[in-house]
Amino acid sequence: MKEQLKRLLNQIEAEVRLTLGMTGRRALDPKVMSAIAATPRDKFVPDRYLDSAYDNAPLPIGHGQTISQPYIVALMTDLLELEEHAKVLEIGTGSGYQAAILSLLCEQVYTIEYVPELAEVANARFKELGYDNIKCIAGNGYDGWPEYAPFDGIIVTAAATHIPVALIEQLKPGGRMVIPVGAQNRYQELTLVEKDENGELDIRGVLSVAFVPFQGEHGS
Ligand code: SAH
Repeated sequence: MKEQLKRLLNQIEAEVRLTLGMTGRRALDPKVMSAIAATPRDKFVPDRYLDSAYDNAPLPIGHGQTISQPYIVALMTDLLELEEHAKVLEIGTGSGYQAAILSLLCEQVYTIEYVPELAEVANARFKELGYDNIKCIAGNGYDGWPEYAPFDGIIVTAAATHIPVALIEQLKPGGRMVIPVGAQNRYQELTLVEKDENGELDIRGVLSVAFVPFQGEHGS
């Protein structure tokens, strides 16, 4: 596994350099790369994909969903620019891989998964692997998680046609949100939303991406 992980880290770094023109990032924060290196992706993929666990590619996780491509996970994590004491909200737990990486870089991760079975499997994984700063529930992330808001970072890992208002409201001044926005079942624009201390928003596209669709966009 060690060799495969090393190859994956090299591939992520190479893809970061290749996409510099779009993302403006020549290299990712070494802390993000360390978090990727410390997270056993083989524990987050179905057994039949074990051989591909360290490929720089998305893989099916059942229910028509996928674990994202590691390069995209790394880039989205980097864009959040998390500080140690940050509270982060993720919409779309899926396998739990992205949440596990986030949990190494901040104080607390809150993550919501639409498919109850996936939330259940992810919760069991977090417990087994000892990720004790991740809180995961089944539900519709369109409404965010008001109980724990506001968040320093919000990451959406399913393609939305627009940025849900509740998520903008639940972003702390000075916080950052990363979300793929655009037509579903096609390409979307990975979008970075920055809220300044006065609550003003700066919104810009970072990269063209292809995510599975956001479910229940009109709220629960
Ligand atoms: N972050 C995941 C990748 C998830 S794929 C990982 O690391 O494995 C996108 C996930 O978003 C899917 O599991 C899908 O069920 C979930 N999803 C889609 N719409 C959602 C919604 N409205 N609320 C919460 N989760 C949603």
